[in-house]
Amino acid sequence: MDALVSLCKRRGFLFQSSEIYGGVQGFWDYGPLGVELKRNLKDAWWHDMISGHNELVSPAGAPSTFEMVGLDCTIIMHPQVWKCSGHYDLFHDHMVDCRESKKRYRFDQVRGRFVEYQGKKIFVSTLAEIEQEEDEVRRRGMKFFKLRAKNADELTVEKESLTLDKLDSTENVLAPDAKALGTLTEPREFNLMFKTTLGALGGEEDTTFLRPETAQGIFVNFKNVVDSSRVRIPFGIGQVGKSFRNEITPRNFTFRSREFEQMEIEFFCHPNQSQEWYRYWRDRRMAWYTKLGLSSESLIMREHHTEELAHYSVGTADIEYAFPFLPEGEYGELEGIAHRGDFDLRSHMEGKLDPATNPMTVELNEHGKPKHRGSGKDLAYRDDITNEKFVPHVIEPSAGADRAALAFLCEAYTEDEAPDENGKMQTRTVMKLDPRLAPIKAAVFPLVKKDGMPEVAQEIYGALKEHYNVFYDAKGAVGRRYRRQDEAGTPYCITVDGDSLTDKTVTIRDRDTLEQTRVKIDDVVSEIQSRMKAST
Ligand code: ATP
Repeated sequence: MDALVSLCKRRGFLFQSSEIYGGVQGFWDYGPLGVELKRNLKDAWWHDMISGHNELVSPAGAPSTFEMVGLDCTIIMHPQVWKCSGHYDLFHDHMVDCRESKKRYRFDQVRGRFVEYQGKKIFVSTLAEIEQEEDEVRRRGMKFFKLRAKNADELTVEKESLTLDKLDSTENVLAPDAKALGTLTEPREFNLMFKTTLGALGGEEDTTFLRPETAQGIFVNFKNVVDSSRVRIPFGIGQVGKSFRNEITPRNFTFRSREFEQMEIEFFCHPNQSQEWYRYWRDRRMAWYTKLGLSSESLIMREHHTEELAHYSVGTADIEYAFPFLPEGEYGELEGIAHRGDFDLRSHMEGKLDPATNPMTVELNEHGKPKHRGSGKDLAYRDDITNEKFVPHVIEPSAGADRAALAFLCEAYTEDEAPDENGKMQTRTVMKLDPRLAPIKAAVFPLVKKDGMPEVAQEIYGALKEHYNVFYDAKGAVGRRYRRQDEAGTPYCITVDGDSLTDKTVTIRDRDTLEQTRVKIDDVVSEIQSRMKAST
């Protein structure tokens, strides 16, 4: 992971936000290569889910044909949206404060291990990355018990790494930034929504929130879409956009950020068909990741147990990836696919429903009035053929663009061996990104900067640039230029050499196989096009 983080900075995939001022935790900027990667990822999602969807054909595994459309909603919405969605009351994590360091931590994310010295057992916690955790726990344990290096053997550190929420009490916990034991408070609820103020007056009634998910923008526009676009159920609405969560312990690179992008679909269907659609979307979304290059050994589909589900839901599954910063055997969520029943549309219509009631009724306050009033608008759907009127059920595949980008970067990072210009095998770092995701599709090099080679190379570069993001590089030894493109994940390198001027051919080198093929200059564009096409 350290090697990947350093490559991301060195080659301009990812930078810490506001780095020159010391950075701000939980915010990340995408550099010149990173922005292309993330854009390609979002474009692939948009194409594969929305714009490229053929509503005339029923895809394999789908119960029927269906339509897909897109939306782009605002980040700030009416505050009532978040009251009816449940985020105002329920969107919180548990946090603990340290009385000594005055720092705040997320209860279920601080890890540590039990250590023992002369019969006294304490739990040493740390925010260190998983690879450094054992060493850091040992170092802090030694310091706590005032042990010298020569007595290191007298301290035992348990193998098992635990999060604070797995402990019976925090009495014997050494908090991550504390010197004394038992400095953590009891866990408290902390709402993750970022508050902001509308207008200049700034009273409590002007308080609103930065959206913590894009989904609600889709629900509140359901009627607009049905009335304006002639879509018929079953159909899906997709949206890609920023979301904000005031995460207590942002960590693991971009995995848990405070500002991130989501790619979400709300799929509306008849209640009788919702189970089949749930299964369809779960399998379809899993296949999307493997098709773009995540290995199936590193991916799992975790179905939530029935007792974890709300009664109105027939299922929720998380697609999870074995990120290298997680302990062996643990996975991190890339996407959740949830059957949400009619909870959201009815809550926006009637007032926030109480998910514990069956059948669901509006949650009431102490005066017997709705706790959070709905819009009062009729969000039911009338089938114009059968004339049946119903509130559709919703299947929600909700993915994170930043987590997916990180998973593809982790998967792509490879160290292998390749010959240098003298034919000697050298270790090379190569980002084996799928060509669709690769920031740069091809690089064009003149072997040397003379004998007419740059002119030919520039012509090829100009022709390719009309179709793809390509890169021209005439500086330095050609082997070094290949290495730079390998690190950027560029699938093809085109080299113009002495022979090119006479036989009008160039070499195309494949990043992964290192195979070099000679291709006519006039065929370079179509050759790259056909290789790119083969990868989709
Ligand atoms: P987690 O349990 O990891 O906090 P979640 O279950 O709250 O995630 P959802 O509300 O289901 O996440 O959001 C859908 C997707 O949005 C997640 O699968 C993830 O890809 C992305 N996402 C959520 N929170 C973050 C975050 N803080 N940083 C980056 N991506 C996020």
